[in-house]
Amino acid sequence: MSSDCIFCKIVNKEIPSNFIFENDKVIAFNDLNPQAPVHFLVIPKKHYSSLNDIDSKEAFADIFSAIPEITKKLEIKEYRTVVNTGESAGQTVFHIHVHVMAGRKFDWPAG
Ligand code: AMP
Ligand code: ZN
Repeated sequence: MSSDCIFCKIVNKEIPSNFIFENDKVIAFNDLNPQAPVHFLVIPKKHYSSLNDIDSKEAFADIFSAIPEITKKLEIKEYRTVVNTGESAGQTVFHIHVHVMAGRKFDWPAG
């Protein structure tokens, strides 16, 4: 837990958010500023600032294995996943999160 981290506050329900998924390791909730008809974030309950901070294979597995579980429930078969690491890559919240977006065509390479 990082006391000034907005996503830790969401995990701890200090900031209201509608969880679309929760297990003992991760939560998922809709992005406040969606970039696609479906746009949610998957985050570990434990605070890691970025991908560079992750210290165990289990943590990767916990985060990424939740994604197909959620998309199956939402009946989504095609989606874009994005992890921004560092300011120049577009990271604005320093608690690791995976963006999952669907419902429109995505360009490649990403801008
Ligand atoms: P990034 O730029 O990759 O760090 O992504 C941060 C994302 O968090 C952005 O897409 C924001 O719209 C989203 N975000 C910031 N605050 C909240 C919040 N309170 N609830 C949901 N999403 C948020
Ligand atoms: Zn945090």
